[in-house]
Amino acid sequence: MELSAIVTGAARGIGRDVVLRLRAAGYRVVAVDIRPAVSDLAEAGRVVPVVADVTADGVPPAVIDRAWTEFGRLDLLVNNAGRFLRRPLLETTDDDFDALFAVNVRPAFRFSRAALPHLIDTRGCIINTASISGLVGIGNQSVYAMTKGAIVQLTRQLAVECAPRGVRVNAVAPGAVDTDFMAEARAADPDPAASLAATLSNHPIGRMSTSDEVARAIVFLAAPESGGITGTILSVDGGYVAR
Ligand code: NAD
Repeated sequence: MELSAIVTGAARGIGRDVVLRLRAAGYRVVAVDIRPAVSDLAEAGRVVPVVADVTADGVPPAVIDRAWTEFGRLDLLVNNAGRFLRRPLLETTDDDFDALFAVNVRPAFRFSRAALPHLIDTRGCIINTASISGLVGIGNQSVYAMTKGAIVQLTRQLAVECAPRGVRVNAVAPGAVDTDFMAEARAADPDPAASLAATLSNHPIGRMSTSDEVARAIVFLAAPESGGITGTILSVDGGYVAR
């Protein structure tokens, strides 16, 4: 029996490595991203790329239907698509707030709701990409941190609500991960070199995590051997929140 998964934000970074690790673990995958580059992951009968904006009405149920049509089952939903915003509160607008919640929070809610009936059938699981920003105060990230705090609570809430129906719900909480997401954020900083030095010194392991390390944690949480784990926020942060 081949398991089937949906991964959002799959064109690059963490999501792309999740798709590759799930493939190595034998999953068939629907890989969703707004970037056409997600099509590079296409593999006949194995990886079905969908170029779509996860914030658009109708996209979450359409993607769930696509996985069902392609694979006839759904075992895993990885809500990973997200955007970053580093901005002091006094410069943060209402539009920033709405835009970030629209991409970082509402799709996870909508995808989870649409996937749940299928996941109940397979006793499957949901894994969300949260962040250390959803666990501790960092500064200049008020709206981003609120979105990731919402993901943390969505995870805990659904874990409790869905456990009686056999569905597990967990999250990973990465610290800084060496992806384009971080590089783009750094490039927008007034002093990118100082920003990188601060990031490295804030993480006890002295480096950023790799996207593959986060992907492996997601595959670990999805594995049947992790059947006792639900409602967990698994930090992959080089010791950041342990300080
Ligand atoms: P990334 O920017 O490399 O990848 C994110 C992907 O999401 C991109 O391919 C992007 O096109 C896609 N995406 C964004 N908006 C979308 C939309 N509306 N519809 C469809 N796809 C959309 O970033 P990443 O570093 O791989 O981050 C992935 C997740 O990990 C995000 O939720 C992010 O908040 C979280 N995270 C990242 C870090 C980090 O340091 N990189 C740390 C903590 C948490």
